[in-house]
Amino acid sequence: MEQALRSRAQERCELCGDGHALVATEVPPTPHDGEAADGWILLCATCSDQTAGTAPMDAKHWFCLQEAAWSEVAVVAVCSWRLLQRLPDEAWARDLLDQLYLSDETLAWARATEDASDAPDPGTPPTVAKTLDANGTALSDGDSVTLIKALDVKGAGFVAKRGTLVKNIRLTDNPAHVEGRVNNFTIVLKTCFLKRAG
Ligand SMILES: [Zn+2]
Repeated sequence: MEQALRSRAQERCELCGDGHALVATEVPPTPHDGEAADGWILLCATCSDQTAGTAPMDAKHWFCLQEAAWSEVAVVAVCSWRLLQRLPDEAWARDLLDQLYLSDETLAWARATEDASDAPDPGTPPTVAKTLDANGTALSDGDSVTLIKALDVKGAGFVAKRGTLVKNIRLTDNPAHVEGRVNNFTIVLKTCFLKRAG
């Protein structure tokens, strides 16, 4: 596995490109399919310590994420995304997170530790309430929905008509709310006024 990892990384830290003191680091939760090395990243000591939280975050060092975050290697994008989340005071990091596009699968992986670290008791898996539409159909990230009721979008100055199709919704922490784009505004939609499309 480590050999496969080192050849993918070309003997460089996959975040900053440094070639010294490289350590293979597992990025849980490991994906079920694919190669064993897919769940691992090769990091230099600087990246590794800050990633693990044993050294304080050095925002300047993480400028390297402006390149790494766009990696086609999912695990590199996942690590970059997670690190960017830990730089909430850096405008460039927030901008980068806004621009970044991760596939649903990669994003789910990147977010997977949030649940684990937020859970009050790590011994029991968090019970995640399902997000359901008006008919009780489960909604997922990326679904399309239609509005079953006209929606006055306060602050944006328009009314989204009943029957408006909203593509590629995102679930939120609140099972009663999803996010979607209507007229180029990202807005929070109440699931009781939505019907899953298709
Ligand atoms: Zn590094």
